[in-house]
Amino acid sequence: MIGWSAAGDSHRGRIREKNEDFFHIDEDRGIFIVADGMGGHAAGEVASRLAADAALEALRRLEEPEPEALRAAFRTAQEQIAACCDDQPETQGMGTTLTAAHLSADGRLRIAHIGDSRLYRVQGATLHQLTRDHTWVQQEVDAGRLDPGDAPRHPFSHILSRVLTATDPPAPDIISTRVEPGDVLLLCSDGLYNMVDGQPLVDILTRDQEEPAALVERLIASANRRGGTDNITVIVVRITA
Ligand code: CA
Repeated sequence: MIGWSAAGDSHRGRIREKNEDFFHIDEDRGIFIVADGMGGHAAGEVASRLAADAALEALRRLEEPEPEALRAAFRTAQEQIAACCDDQPETQGMGTTLTAAHLSADGRLRIAHIGDSRLYRVQGATLHQLTRDHTWVQQEVDAGRLDPGDAPRHPFSHILSRVLTATDPPAPDIISTRVEPGDVLLLCSDGLYNMVDGQPLVDILTRDQEEPAALVERLIASANRRGGTDNITVIVVRITA
């Protein structure tokens, strides 16, 4: 059996006027969600909140987060976005990333994911990215047409290949794995990892004397020091015995 402690926060960053990210933590039930919305007329804020709320509600109702139940939760989130676009035409075209994680006391971690928000696991001093970005550049890297080192600076790096919208049935990746005491999980929007990634990220996440809330604060401060060009959302979960 494992336990965990978690904290999260979201910051507008230094450039953007609004925060279109949204997150939820239900520590008791082991549910962690990050959504990064997009769309004009404040619709990005609406999309990320709707999707995160719907996913939280659906996951809270689950006895067992089997893959099909996770897909159903994402369908519910998509239906909420579609219904809102029908009611409020000014929100048409809005969309959001959605990364939802469910931890069980037996150490199982299940993730459902669409878009370019990320979930990382730090084991020892090694950073593993458990989600894959649904971006055009990632597709090109996978196809061998683009060098991974060039992807972050590519002019099309912000183009998503998959996202939750009103029109398309959602096709989330479902990832099942296990965690162990000492592991640290990080869920974040691209506003974090485009500013802080690799070793600087590991250096912060391995400060094991600090509470998750302190790590969240450090990560957001670091992203802002490095430019803060986008909204920054961070959830840190420390796995304990
Ligand atoms: Ca973003």
